[in-house]
Amino acid sequence: MKKLIKTGILIGLVLFSLKNLNQDSFKSIKNCSYMIGSEKILVINKHNKIDKNFVPNNLIEPSIPFNDGVENEEKLVEKEVAVSLEKLFKDAENTGIFLLGNSGYRSFELQDKTYKNRILSEGKDMADKYVAKPGQSEHQTGLAMDVTNKANYFTEDTKEAIWISENAHKYGFIIRYQKGKEYITGCNYEPWHLRYVGKKIATNMHENNLVLEEYIENEN
Ligand SMILES: [Zn+2]
Repeated sequence: MKKLIKTGILIGLVLFSLKNLNQDSFKSIKNCSYMIGSEKILVINKHNKIDKNFVPNNLIEPSIPFNDGVENEEKLVEKEVAVSLEKLFKDAENTGIFLLGNSGYRSFELQDKTYKNRILSEGKDMADKYVAKPGQSEHQTGLAMDVTNKANYFTEDTKEAIWISENAHKYGFIIRYQKGKEYITGCNYEPWHLRYVGKKIATNMHENNLVLEEYIENEN
């Protein structure tokens, strides 16, 4: 029994130090912007904030159906993202998967409002788990879109979430906050949060099971 406990403690220590190693390497990403070949990739996370005044250049509203109650600003994404999102939604629909846009671009001010509203409705612990603080959100880049389904219940085992996880990369999107990689991304698993990185990078990350921080580390 003692031996078992000792082994358990040892495994625990190894896992703990591995986790810290990864956290340290993740913190070495110090810029918001990385050049991978000719592609400029933005990395926003808790340690790597976006400027308060950053506003994307070409925000437009994609022709996709939206969930009820989505603010007009949140319907916007960067033009290139909008085109890919429309293709993804259409192809999904052709296979019987109906998606809805739930939240795209959020300005610093809207992110602030979203964060504070969540604290009021669900408390600070839940807000910190699921809503980024202003300046730490990818939604300010115009490169992200949260999606949902008609039931507004988008967990990992719904057919919509499964289709997204298997197909999003073909349209240049990644599931930004992956299960099991929370210690790297600093965010809980979010099967609904799509981030545009372009087909080539999305496919590479999908095939190698990488999150954005890991991909940037590997490529630099
Ligand atoms: Zn999101």
